[in-house]
Amino acid sequence: MQTIGVIGAGQMGAGIAQVSAQAGYRVLLSDVSKARAEAGKAGIAKQLDRAVTKEKITTAARDEALARIDCVDSVADIAPCGLVIEAATEREEIKRAIFAEVGKVLGADAVLASNTSSIPITRLAQASPDPARFVGVHFFNPVPVMGLIELIRGLATSDATVETVEKYAQALGKKVVRANDAPGFIVNRVLMPMINEACFALGEGVATITDIDLACQLGLNHPMGPLTLADFIGLDTCLEITRVLFEGTGDPKFRPAPVLVKYVEAGWFGRKTGRGFYDYSGAEPVPTR
Ligand code: NAD
Repeated sequence: MQTIGVIGAGQMGAGIAQVSAQAGYRVLLSDVSKARAEAGKAGIAKQLDRAVTKEKITTAARDEALARIDCVDSVADIAPCGLVIEAATEREEIKRAIFAEVGKVLGADAVLASNTSSIPITRLAQASPDPARFVGVHFFNPVPVMGLIELIRGLATSDATVETVEKYAQALGKKVVRANDAPGFIVNRVLMPMINEACFALGEGVATITDIDLACQLGLNHPMGPLTLADFIGLDTCLEITRVLFEGTGDPKFRPAPVLVKYVEAGWFGRKTGRGFYDYSGAEPVPTR
């Protein structure tokens, strides 16, 4: 398996394409159009330039990695890939439509993996060309920095499929944890209740945004507080995953905090919209309340 197909060239897809190319794989990158895929590749070039400036990689390594990534017109062009990773928008109907296209060209032994954060793998597998060759491969953001992959087996996923993805993860230098196909897998199952609880604490007036973050950062020895982290992830994404946990388990402990819902309703999604729990329009983030 020397060629990896990546579908979706957004923040995750671009990161997956980058680390795959840096590990020596040829990568075919697709998005809704070739122009979007090219934009993803341009972002990768910037990331690699930064790594050269910081003397983490050589200019030759940057050039070689970039030369291994080819942008393609559509999913129809991923036929030569032994492993195809779908990292498109987190909407089930979008992923299902992509899998129907993949089904027309996927090789007889090739594996299809989804980077979904929250959609059940067993359910998604039903829309895939072959549920035995379908698996969840959950990368973390930013992909080049984060050392973990959660590997999620659907009910029908074969051992050979799991082995294929484990070998690939090893080649990338990432550690793999295996999770069952349960809402939120491992990391989001543990993380989202913390972020959600920080939102409840804020809403109930327990402390200010800055003090909640500082308390958790220093008191728990975390690199950043939960509200800062939520702004990085995207408050819309945090709400979506919290809803999946709530609906998937039926357990009221996962009900979304009203403050989180309110911020998302306001369109304050965090860093990507310039405003979330903090306002990012100035030189330094300023708490919004
Ligand atoms: P993003 O919005 O940055 O990128 C999504 C990309 O998918 C866009 O470039 C979009 O044009 C493309 N796309 C949409 N429809 C498509 C189609 N039909 N064919 C091909 N491409 C299509 O989103 P993202 O943050 O990169 O998330 C992508 C996936 O990764 C989601 O499933 C998300 O849940 C998952 N994920 C995200 C994170 C995170 O922290 N952002 C972490 C782990 C997993």
